[in-house]
Amino acid sequence: MMAFYSDVYVLPLPEGHKFPITKYRLVRDGLVANGIVQPSELYLSEPVSPEVVKLAHAPHYVDAVLHGTVDRMIMRRIGFPWTSELVIRSFTIVGGAIASAEEALESGFAGNLAGGTHHALYDAGEGFCVFNDLAVVVRYLFSQKLVGRVAVIDLDVHQGNGTAAILGGRDDVYLFSMHGAKNYPFRKVPSTVDIDLADNTSDDEYLGILERELPKIVAWKPDIVLFQAGVDPLREDTLGRLALSMEGLARRDEMVFCACKQHGIPVSVAMGGGYAKPVHLTVQAHIQTYRVLRHIYG
Ligand SMILES: [Zn+2]
Repeated sequence: MMAFYSDVYVLPLPEGHKFPITKYRLVRDGLVANGIVQPSELYLSEPVSPEVVKLAHAPHYVDAVLHGTVDRMIMRRIGFPWTSELVIRSFTIVGGAIASAEEALESGFAGNLAGGTHHALYDAGEGFCVFNDLAVVVRYLFSQKLVGRVAVIDLDVHQGNGTAAILGGRDDVYLFSMHGAKNYPFRKVPSTVDIDLADNTSDDEYLGILERELPKIVAWKPDIVLFQAGVDPLREDTLGRLALSMEGLARRDEMVFCACKQHGIPVSVAMGGGYAKPVHLTVQAHIQTYRVLRHIYG
């Protein structure tokens, strides 16, 4: 398996910043320490060119990110201070996402150990998302004529508003989002299928809905699935409001991977959110996604 990573994923943040930025390195280290990903299977993510990001984002916004001239209100909504490290990180996450998708098309599956930045809109970032790696990947794959149809399975607890805003309404993109009804973003943008979940939704209900919906997605015959595997539906998550167990998350990931494998659909995994306190439960859940992936694909 190929997993894409770069040390620039760990953004230097001001002391006391609430984003659990250390999780990226902890997940990478945990994957290697547990033998789930061999050191030789870790590939360096490279920053993508601004032109590629502009396939899905307003050129003036991409240039403003590059030059540090993003509107102050937008930077506040993003939630990270503008730094040169943020610029490099943002372009590198998209680079890793594209590399992962291309590898998935080659070998069947791959992952980027970051990304799933699904809140970024066409001309503005928000919610810790600068660029929307999912939207750029979709536009890039189409521009290169690598695929005819793409499905995005977004199981982060927050709705994929940015992805829907950029890609919604296309008949060659199937956007599936399952998320907390009362959670951020408070203005949701319609996906192809949105499942709004009540607070404290637990394993049985969640997995029952997923079991009902997954066959419809694979029956649509996408050429690739982009899986936003956020682990913030976990009960212990501080921003999640749902009540999935660690085992429930494992079953969730297993269902997605099995459905893709059974139908011969390549899958590229993006990390998505996770805000458990302490952070180790989030890290454990992200590692578990790859353990399940390895188990299903061998
Ligand atoms: Zn989230």
